[in-house]
Amino acid sequence: MAIYDPKSLRADEFINHEEILETLEYAERNKNNIELIDQILEKARPRFMEKENHGAALTHREASVLLACEIPEVNERIFKIAEEIKLAYYGNRIVIFAPLYLSNYCVNGCVYCPYHIDGKIPRKKLTQDEVRREVIALQDMGHKRLAIEAGEDPVNNPIEYILECIDTIYSTQHENGSIRRVNVNIAATTAENYRRLKEAGIGTYILFQETYHKESYLQLHPTGPKHDYDYHTEAMDRAMEGGIDDVGLGVLFGLDKYKYEFAGLIMHAEHLEAAHGVGPHTISVPRVKRAADIDPDVFDNSIPDETFIKIMACIRLAVPYTGMIISTRESEEVRAKALQVGISQISGASRTSVGGYAEEERPHDTEQFDVSDQRTLDEVVNWLMVNGHIPSFCTACYREGRTGDRFMSLCKSGQILNCCHPNALMTLTEYLVDYASPETRELGFRMVADELERIPSESIRATALDNIEGIKGSNRRDFRF
Ligand code: SAM
Repeated sequence: MAIYDPKSLRADEFINHEEILETLEYAERNKNNIELIDQILEKARPRFMEKENHGAALTHREASVLLACEIPEVNERIFKIAEEIKLAYYGNRIVIFAPLYLSNYCVNGCVYCPYHIDGKIPRKKLTQDEVRREVIALQDMGHKRLAIEAGEDPVNNPIEYILECIDTIYSTQHENGSIRRVNVNIAATTAENYRRLKEAGIGTYILFQETYHKESYLQLHPTGPKHDYDYHTEAMDRAMEGGIDDVGLGVLFGLDKYKYEFAGLIMHAEHLEAAHGVGPHTISVPRVKRAADIDPDVFDNSIPDETFIKIMACIRLAVPYTGMIISTRESEEVRAKALQVGISQISGASRTSVGGYAEEERPHDTEQFDVSDQRTLDEVVNWLMVNGHIPSFCTACYREGRTGDRFMSLCKSGQILNCCHPNALMTLTEYLVDYASPETRELGFRMVADELERIPSESIRATALDNIEGIKGSNRRDFRF
């Protein structure tokens, strides 16, 4: 029997089934243990105002106790601390991105995904000209940061194809537009391929675990290379070996029991920290959605919105420095609640079909899943500002080499107001000047002026103001601290 060891590079040792079962028992036993819960909440609380400016990450056992607890007052405290943590480490900025679907060719048999090998969706793969058209359409909306997506197919979408697309994306520039950070969500691959992705200048490598429950995993991925649970689960270790130190985790909620998934997810984060000295850069929280021949009701572990929000809040407390991403799989209503419990990145105006952005109308035939939030980017930006969030198009960190533990130390040092905050305001100004509707522009300029006042350093404030005037009065772009 495998023994739990967060430092091990073996999937069954760092995501250890017995340890998860014991954690769930421990959480159940302690879910009304107020003394323990108080201690855990006290540990998680951010100490921003007390000069000791960071709360501690929680262990998977501690975080699982919070998730299991059903006491309404405790849940209110969890939500409140989640919001405090988000504001302490990430401020009121929300980073915006869009997915770009390159190819839906896939040789896997994932039963929840319309790309599965027997699926009847029309197969499509973008040519480099089509990639350029998609990128221009995305730039013309105002996007600066993309997550590229592709099915797994070594013949149709080999790594060389992905690398060529990345090169095309970075080298396409329309008017003042540019894509400055390409994150990559493709199937688990070799350390050598991760090294090539790193050399191509990718931001985060994202791979959803789908489920941490090995037995379910094997059933849900009955055929194809993705069937190999260990290879999939150990992918982030190979990515780190290949030099990628920003990696993004995620679970596809609805496939298996959420408490099991949650414990596995936090254990995965603990493992990355223990084995590589740097935790996950982001965690995504997708839920299974309706798609071509996929009926989400077939999976009997779907979770109600309230539980979903609670999961996000508990992730926020467990791994305070990790960005948290919610996509347009979720409705405006759910995304609004998610923003209050610690989400730091959202996608906007997404189209999940291959070649969807260059089309006048949203195409449905090759969609990966139904998009719930179908608002335009301008509407999303406006909505964020009305609700007090600064939409940020910033991509400075990784371009300045602040990846992995260097990003984490920026986060922990509390220097965000002197660095990320002005960067957000400058990139928001780019958006407002180049792409916003008159109403959004007016609202945004007011927000930028107010938020500039919050920059503590006088010299940084002056430089930021100077740059913002430069953006408004000329075609000078891409300022960053
Ligand atoms: N093919 C890559 C892989 O194997 O990891 C990733 C690309 S896939 C386009 C991105 C993610 O979409 C998957 O990891 C899965 O979690 C999610 N997904 C698949 N089917 C879905 C569905 N019906 N509803 C919501 N998300 C889904």
